[in-house]
Amino acid sequence: MIKVSDITVYQKCPRMCYFVSKGHSLVKEITPGYLERIILKELALTYGEAFNNDNTHSFLDNELNRISSEIRIIYRNELSGIDDNTLANSVSEVRSSLGNICSNLSSNGDFYTSESVNESLLQSEKFGLAGSPDRLIKIKDELLPSIIKTGNMPQNGVWQGDRLQLTAYAVLVEENHDSVVERGFVEYARWGRVREVLIKRHERRKVLQIRDRIKKIRGGFMPEKPKDAPCEYCGFTGMCDVKSTIASRFF
Ligand code: SF4
Repeated sequence: MIKVSDITVYQKCPRMCYFVSKGHSLVKEITPGYLERIILKELALTYGEAFNNDNTHSFLDNELNRISSEIRIIYRNELSGIDDNTLANSVSEVRSSLGNICSNLSSNGDFYTSESVNESLLQSEKFGLAGSPDRLIKIKDELLPSIIKTGNMPQNGVWQGDRLQLTAYAVLVEENHDSVVERGFVEYARWGRVREVLIKRHERRKVLQIRDRIKKIRGGFMPEKPKDAPCEYCGFTGMCDVKSTIASRFF
């Protein structure tokens, strides 16, 4: 079964997919930026409650206190080598964004007043895909996926990678609920903004193409090193000088 997170890794670099398929872990360096992102992700899960609270700012302030005491339980492995000061600095950085987040949350009223549906894992035997969107929300008769992103937000719309990830979840919702999903949402946590995305046919096709490429990689296929691969942030650089096969040039 291919996971939606595999599709995300493939988009960063197909070779990362190869090394993960060989049992290597995606090493994430725990930088202050990474710490901020995981704190923001936890905080964004409470934006709906914050929106519906009389004092959004003080609600999120309290949530940050809760998260700073619980985050080590949720990310036990990743944060085992992180000292309390480093963690406290990252929490402070996120706290400094609260004013901006609060002022933007009100522009997403329809989103945050919609009903959330609890469903942890979506699977499709037919498509060989599985994954868990950050939220499934119900608006009238539509069941729609939403993903939380903690990185930069584009000026308009959403990043291509976010769009493909959301499309993969849309396909899974359709398969699991015998429905048609025409849209979904990307939540840019650092700004408290939610952007709607229309699910397009050519992106559905692209998701299936990437799924098939990942299957080949799992079968032992070493893809070419992409020209724009993010090697400087990658933990596989030491093992990635393997020469590509002739066949991979046709991949
Ligand atoms: S080192 Fe570069 S090419 Fe190799 S897996 Fe990492 S990002 Fe991809």
